[in-house]
Amino acid sequence: MIQLEQVSKVFALEAGPFTALKPADIHIGKGEFIAIMGPSGSGKSTLLQLIGGLDLPSGGTVAVDGVRLNELNEKERTLFRRTKVGFVFQNYQLLPMMTVAENVGLAMAANKASKADIRARVRELLQDVRLEDKEHHFPSQLSGGQQQRVAIARALAMKPGLLLADEPTGNLDRSNGESILQLLSRLNKEERITVVMVTHDPHAAAAADRIITIRDGQVVRDERDGGERT
Ligand code: ADP
Ligand code: MG
Repeated sequence: MIQLEQVSKVFALEAGPFTALKPADIHIGKGEFIAIMGPSGSGKSTLLQLIGGLDLPSGGTVAVDGVRLNELNEKERTLFRRTKVGFVFQNYQLLPMMTVAENVGLAMAANKASKADIRARVRELLQDVRLEDKEHHFPSQLSGGQQQRVAIARALAMKPGLLLADEPTGNLDRSNGESILQLLSRLNKEERITVVMVTHDPHAAAAADRIITIRDGQVVRDERDGGERT
């Protein structure tokens, strides 16, 4: 589903070029639940952004479903991000002036779906994340765990095959974090959504089936079910 070939990222800083990601080969199959683990500043978010087409690599190629992201024009890349990938962030990134329902329906509205279709899909999604009674609430009226569930519902609105989550439990206490991990696992196992989750927490990473470890911009380990792969 996702193929990274010799993908690297170099940022131009005042002090000179800075390599955030050294050339990496990563292949992710449909239906996998992957954790990208590593200390702060190791390049996890950079890698996730490259996988999701939020940023382009300095070298190498990223292909999703056979489509090479660097060969898409700006418009095609926007459509790709809006329909093929869902993003979830540590700080939820909900729009504070919009209700839960409006936040969840955002991408569909941007894609000019009808009001009736949006309403039906938002209902379905909020049921899926067990927040059906919070439709008309504003994000500030919800707990962190509830806000993250809204963010996950929003990410799934366009039925993407791939969900990318950057430290989704980073702002949550253990029990709220646990329920987010269970939700991601259920979406992966029951709805067959491929999940790539960045975390620096080994406990959170244990929810995944495969752990890719990155250190100083280098993939140092790629292991599945306890067995070493590289
Ligand atoms: P992590 O998510 O593992 O904490 P990041 O991928 O955010 O790490 O960052 C990896 C390194 O790249 C860090 O040293 C960070 O400062 C640097 N970096 C990330 N984004 C940028 C950017 N847009 N410009 C310059 N440096 C960046
Ligand atoms: Mg990060």
